[in-house]
Amino acid sequence: MLKKERFCQDRLFGERGGMKIKTKDTVIVNKGKDVGKTGRVEKLILKNQRVVVSGVNIYKKHGRPTKKNPKGGIIDVTMPIRIENVTLVCPHCSKPARVGYKINKDNKIRVCKKCGDQV
Ligand SMILES: [Zn+2]
Repeated sequence: MLKKERFCQDRLFGERGGMKIKTKDTVIVNKGKDVGKTGRVEKLILKNQRVVVSGVNIYKKHGRPTKKNPKGGIIDVTMPIRIENVTLVCPHCSKPARVGYKINKDNKIRVCKKCGDQV
């Protein structure tokens, strides 16, 4: 029982299985080739626990000519990164924040554990 609870926390799952990161959040990368970079979360990929962060984890890809890119050639592709490799940056204190939850009336709100503000 205890072991299982700890496992859930490690995986960054909330109580109801949701992820602590949401789209439009600003996150900082803490692992991999882009350590220290920050960007905005563009997309969540729930099924494999990854996020697409603008400006992070960009790979060059050789593309064939298409209507959008008539010359073809090298294009930048933003690849998803594992959610545990990013940390939410609190918009209030501008620091990588640990996230907690508070019950406010009937709503569960996400809060920064550093400054206590809603994020
Ligand atoms: Zn904060």
